[in-house]
Amino acid sequence: MAEDSGPIATVRVLLPLPLADAYDYAVPDGMDLPPGAYVEVPLGRLQRIGVVWGPGSGQVARSRLKQVAHRFDLPPLPEVARSFVDRVARYTVSPPGAVLRMSLSSTGALEPPKPVLAYRRAGMPPEGVKLSAARRRVLAVLEDGPPRLPAELAREAGCGGSVVKGMAEAGLLEVVLLPGFDPVPQPDLARPRANLGETQREVADTLIDTVAIDGYSTTLIDGVTGSGKTEVYFEAVAAALARGRQVLVLLPEIALSGHWLDRFAARFGVRPVEWHSELTPVQRRRNWRAVALGEARVVVGARSALFLPYAELGLIVVDEEHESAFKQEDGVVYQARDMAVLRGHLGGFPVILVSATPSLETLANVEAGRYAVQHLPDRHGVAQMPAVTAIDMRRESPARGRFLSPTLREAVAETLAKGEQAMLFLNRRGYAPLTLCRHCGHRMECPNCTAWLVEHRLAGRLECHHCGHRAALPKTCPSCQSESSFAACGPGVERIAEEVDATLPEARWTIVASDTFSGPQAIADLTADLDSGAVNLLIGTQILAKGHNFPGLTLVGVVDADLGLAGGDLRAAERTWQLLHQVGGRAGRAEKPGRVLLQSFMPDHPVMQTLVANDRDGFLASEAEARRSRGLPPYGKLVALIVSGPDRGAVDRVARELGQAAPQGDGIMVLGPAEAPLALLRGRHRRRLLFKADRRIAVQPLVTEWVARVQVPGIVRVQIDIDPYSF
Ligand code: ADP
Ligand code: ZN
Ligand code: ZN
Repeated sequence: MAEDSGPIATVRVLLPLPLADAYDYAVPDGMDLPPGAYVEVPLGRLQRIGVVWGPGSGQVARSRLKQVAHRFDLPPLPEVARSFVDRVARYTVSPPGAVLRMSLSSTGALEPPKPVLAYRRAGMPPEGVKLSAARRRVLAVLEDGPPRLPAELAREAGCGGSVVKGMAEAGLLEVVLLPGFDPVPQPDLARPRANLGETQREVADTLIDTVAIDGYSTTLIDGVTGSGKTEVYFEAVAAALARGRQVLVLLPEIALSGHWLDRFAARFGVRPVEWHSELTPVQRRRNWRAVALGEARVVVGARSALFLPYAELGLIVVDEEHESAFKQEDGVVYQARDMAVLRGHLGGFPVILVSATPSLETLANVEAGRYAVQHLPDRHGVAQMPAVTAIDMRRESPARGRFLSPTLREAVAETLAKGEQAMLFLNRRGYAPLTLCRHCGHRMECPNCTAWLVEHRLAGRLECHHCGHRAALPKTCPSCQSESSFAACGPGVERIAEEVDATLPEARWTIVASDTFSGPQAIADLTADLDSGAVNLLIGTQILAKGHNFPGLTLVGVVDADLGLAGGDLRAAERTWQLLHQVGGRAGRAEKPGRVLLQSFMPDHPVMQTLVANDRDGFLASEAEARRSRGLPPYGKLVALIVSGPDRGAVDRVARELGQAAPQGDGIMVLGPAEAPLALLRGRHRRRLLFKADRRIAVQPLVTEWVARVQVPGIVRVQIDIDPYSF
């Protein structure tokens, strides 16, 4: 109770910190602080930004209350966005402040924009200055367009910031001060829409109907690759915009989605507002503010875009809803697809999930009648689904150190000879996944992780794909000291490229993998190279699987279709099927028919059979049955506790105590502790406990009480993962 009498206005302010609760502050005279107001408050010796969460609790003595220092001139965070923060916190068993942190940007975004420094071409450039290719690209970007912020300029020109800086110093660029952020260009709804086919039209109309009425719904668009799913949901986007609502489109890998952005621009005349980790700080501030002020009508983003402070959100589309990238594994552990559905519930608006290979979770929701479904069974126009064949590698095993079967090699040669394009898919970066000593069998392993070091021959080093550790290949074996005794085992994309050089002289290949290929410029360059014929063979990893449209591509060869099936993960089959189906879906998207060849040592495996027969129903039914019989998601609830820390003994002790303190009762079961799939990761030892419960049990309170029963020392972390992706 407050010790003094007399009225004093107080508010609870939630800070973007992992604290258990919001804190009380006194309201200065004359300051209007409605719930949702963005404020600055003192905390310890620092000033923090926070959000008014409600009236004060009255629990803090008046003498100890501090005052709100400042209110920012912005519309308050809407009620629905605040309940979303609370609900996500409760669902994921995280402090609300940790969730709020994902909704706030830096202080810079809360204040009206200050003038910013930008560049334009110098009116009178000095003569005789050398123009590298990068410098010429920078000038070309500025040729047709307004002045650009330095970082934007570098990004659009595909060069480093130092190039831009050097050009300014050389007098090739001139500084201009922009008054603030440019106004956000608005989508043009009067532009012609695609001429939809009959089925497309029907699906679009159904979606438009859900947008037209107020109310929550979730609809799955289940359609084969190339059936026009994007085209169709654009119509729902247009309908929501026409109703004056904001729209959010979540993509799994927004940084690689240049093609999607171009299509959006073709349909709506502008690029949408982007939200993902590759934005510059200035872009982040501008985009956050544009959302909060309602200027941004369409946002396209990665999972974190869910938490932006939308004023009038009225539609969420989750494209490639099955993708694991929607699961955030650090900090607040959440599944963005599921939280999007929750957001739709709270906001009373439709959610559209899109996939050619829907997750079992979503299909179970369809089956139970919780989600509606719309089908697009055929490719648009004359394009046909590719023919899929499995190559039995037990019969066609290539020579030692070679990885392409004669059948696959001939198919590539034939395709290239016809002037068409081919792709060799192998989901492994680098040259070889394992380097071992021929004399003593010593394996080169990461010092920080339970993982082998992958040789990257082009870069001339070994690399850990989990923690990024790098090392040179030693001259002598660290174990037996033999000289140059190392053997590379197994293929990565670089090794496939080497084999192509030796066996397919007509191939003009390029490697497409995340370590060497990123950003819109890379995709534009690749598209140009394919168009001009400078490249006719793509050798790449899973970044080739998604969303891209390569019209001349008619053959996809999967070098190792079995790769994802190893290990004990019960989701392995589902995930492998999704990935290979998506990869195969890159073939034959235009007039020429496509084909897919799968190299497998297990051609009878249900995943291969399903892909070959293009018949997923039986496969999904048996996968679903396997989950149902074990009481696993989506038929039961699952929570993983990951115990980690640098000290193995402490980690084991906490894991053991958690095992002993596990909740008990009907419909509940705890497995473990056991080593987590990566028992050592970035120098932290990891143990895992799995908590299974019947669907009707509310797991969050049980887990909260469970973890609270165990003393956890500061050097050990217990991470709670509701609905873990792997199990
Ligand atoms: P999906 O999202 O199902 O893979 P897309 O929407 O990307 O399918 O469509 C595949 C290709 O077909 C794209 O190049 C798209 O522009 C084209 N397309 C689809 N529907 C139409 C249509 N009704 N009119 C013209 N082109 C279309
Ligand atoms: Zn490592
Ligand atoms: Zn050795």
